[in-house]
Amino acid sequence: MSDACGMMRDGGSTRIPPSSMPLSRPDIGEVERRSVDEAIRSGWISGTGPYLAKFEEALAQQVQRRHVIATANGTLALEVALRAMGVGYGDEVIVPAFTFAAPALCVLAVGATPVIADIDESTWTLDVGDAERKRTSRTRAVIAVDVLGHPCDFDALDRLGIPVIEDAAEAHGAQYRGEPAGSFGLISVFSFHANKPVSTGEGGCVGTDSGELAERVRCIVNHGMVADEPYLHRVVGRNFRMTNLTAAIGFVQVERWDELTSKRNEIARRYDELLGDLPGYRSRPKAEWAHYSCWLHTVVLPDRTSLITHLRACGVDARPVWPALTEQPVLQEYPAYCPVAERIAQQAIFLPTSSLMSAEDVDMVCSAIKSHIATRSKKW
Ligand SMILES: *Cc1c(COP(=O)(O)O)cnc(C)c1O
Repeated sequence: MSDACGMMRDGGSTRIPPSSMPLSRPDIGEVERRSVDEAIRSGWISGTGPYLAKFEEALAQQVQRRHVIATANGTLALEVALRAMGVGYGDEVIVPAFTFAAPALCVLAVGATPVIADIDESTWTLDVGDAERKRTSRTRAVIAVDVLGHPCDFDALDRLGIPVIEDAAEAHGAQYRGEPAGSFGLISVFSFHANKPVSTGEGGCVGTDSGELAERVRCIVNHGMVADEPYLHRVVGRNFRMTNLTAAIGFVQVERWDELTSKRNEIARRYDELLGDLPGYRSRPKAEWAHYSCWLHTVVLPDRTSLITHLRACGVDARPVWPALTEQPVLQEYPAYCPVAERIAQQAIFLPTSSLMSAEDVDMVCSAIKSHIATRSKKW
């Protein structure tokens, strides 16, 4: 006998308690804790210290960037990238319509104008043709989001000839033609938010191969000062630094990069294997040239609203994906024609994904999905 959530009954009670499956769980353990202890003991608890240097160096190695600068979070990393490129009032920046909204909000934060371009049906990343159509003489940059862990078509973006900021916030471990996500564009950024594959709680970084841009980023992040001129402020800088405590976690997480990312990919594969035969099931499309690295396993299944209600009743924190940027209240002054992004935003669902999930956890979520679909088809 199985219950409404598709769970086998064990002596009359379901094995899975309510709210047992969060959307994501950070995978931070003993080694990270010891590292933080050491940072506390050392007295380096603010935005300078040995772990920051080690974290930045390890990241630079990992994502093949000459320079990496740690920041307080991924949103500020994006904002600093725009400021370091001199993007501001009167400038336009192209952003994809299907993304967490931070890229568009950062464009607004520096006083520039977001231009929303549609996404490509076959990759869900920026439609470079649409970006081409929407460029003007004021276009200063394009923020290319490796959405959900799938790299953008960087060769096509190169041909476009607009300076690229790669937003790899969700793409730890992804690759484009053998090169790691985070190594593309004039500047790239990562987020290490709690739900990202590699996490420090809050955290982010900016990467670039340009020494000049790196210097500018470091200066803006650090009150507009440079190391050999203390208390002299030559530009409007702020304090966007990561703390050494956070970097102590991050340094260990970077050492675990392959483990953390490959476990998520294993979860994604199991979902596809168990759900692949369901009518109407589609997981996020992947291009043949992409090495996709799963952030949150994202699927299209019929009847989204009632499915999510059912999953939540079963203790599974599945969620509708973000609304398209064209639907965001704060962006109503920047209308754009983006039918592909709007359709996908209305259909897709995030399923629980983390490196701490077991095969049985995935099975539980899949049983809950299948039990819903079985009930629906009976009613019809
Ligand atoms: C998470 C995320 C960000 C923001 O990063 P935070 O560290 O949460 O500020 C930016 N862009 C994208 C695409 C993201 O997914």
